Amino acid sequence: MSEGRIYNFSAGPSMMPLPVLEKAAAEMTNYGGSGMSVMEMSHRSKYYDDIINGAQDVLRRVYNIPDNYRILFMQGGATMQFSAVPLNLMVTGKADYAITGNFARNAYKEAKKFGDIHIAATSEADNFTWVPTPDQLDIRPDADYFYICANNTIFGTEWHYDPNAGDVPVVADMSSNILSKPVDISKYGMIYAGAQKNMGPAGMAVVIIREDLMGHYRENMPVLLDYQLMADKNSMYNTPPTYSIYMMKLVTEWVEQMGGLEAMAKNADLRSSMLYDYLDSTDFYKGAAQKASRSRMNVTFRTGNDELDKKFIQESIDAGMTNLKGHRLVGGMRASIYNAMPIEGVEYLIDFMKKFENNNK
Ligand SMILES: *Cc1c(COP(=O)(O)O)cnc(C)c1O
Repeated sequence: MSEGRIYNFSAGPSMMPLPVLEKAAAEMTNYGGSGMSVMEMSHRSKYYDDIINGAQDVLRRVYNIPDNYRILFMQGGATMQFSAVPLNLMVTGKADYAITGNFARNAYKEAKKFGDIHIAATSEADNFTWVPTPDQLDIRPDADYFYICANNTIFGTEWHYDPNAGDVPVVADMSSNILSKPVDISKYGMIYAGAQKNMGPAGMAVVIIREDLMGHYRENMPVLLDYQLMADKNSMYNTPPTYSIYMMKLVTEWVEQMGGLEAMAKNADLRSSMLYDYLDSTDFYKGAAQKASRSRMNVTFRTGNDELDKKFIQESIDAGMTNLKGHRLVGGMRASIYNAMPIEGVEYLIDFMKKFENNNK
């Protein structure tokens, strides 16, 4: 860790890889001999062309994205996609949603404005402590798409399989587990992710979409939500979030240099299993999510005593960690451990948890 940096367990915006921040700092005032910062540069310049195309190229390499998929950079974060997905993909007016958390529920509510939405599965009655198994999915064969939230950031659950919806394209919000494991993109019609969890700074969403799902412009569709137009304009119909795209390129290059998605998956498994093994070894803490659905990215837990949880959070701050407070919908604690979190950060947290347990049991 460089001087003064702390272990930041924020769910998002979250820790970035230190070498990426350092590279951005070194290039801050004069990018590649251009005499200016990326922030100051025309998005129509040759320099910026290389950045936006390079960002797509590295993502395509890292995920091995097939040629019939396009990569789009869109503004409005992940939430804007809650609207863009139904507007672009709901061609006959029917779509099916799995509701496994707050973001999935918000996406469902938004889609309901535009068509006939069927709930294919929901864990809402259990406060979203689990993700459905394949046999729990009730997908209509004539739905235009089937929608999931691949990692439920707030509740700490994750889909550990690619859902099979037959001929119905699967759409996945991967905001909080993008770049964390290899994914066979061909099993999805579209995946998207807000950048600020595991890909870069806030300000954009990355969309990876199968070409034949685009081109369904509907009347009154806001121009910036039209996937086909965004693809035709190489995500530059208007000024794109230039600096966020540049940072996302650096993060994805870092992933590639570190050994790609296999290496990210190995580290994510290691970080999360260290924490879960410890949680399972003691009665003092209780994991919030059901075991089979546990997320490798967001680990939710509590002591079972609200006062003690508060004390935990305060003392963790005093010990040099930050953002361990759980979301208000779950309570307790949440440790978000994305790609940039070093193993030592998790070791440090577990050490602290052990001491806290000894002092308070
Ligand atoms: C954070 C998050 C969102 C919302 O992202 P914004 O960029 O704030 O709109 C949506 N889905 C998931 C899974 C998230 O983690």
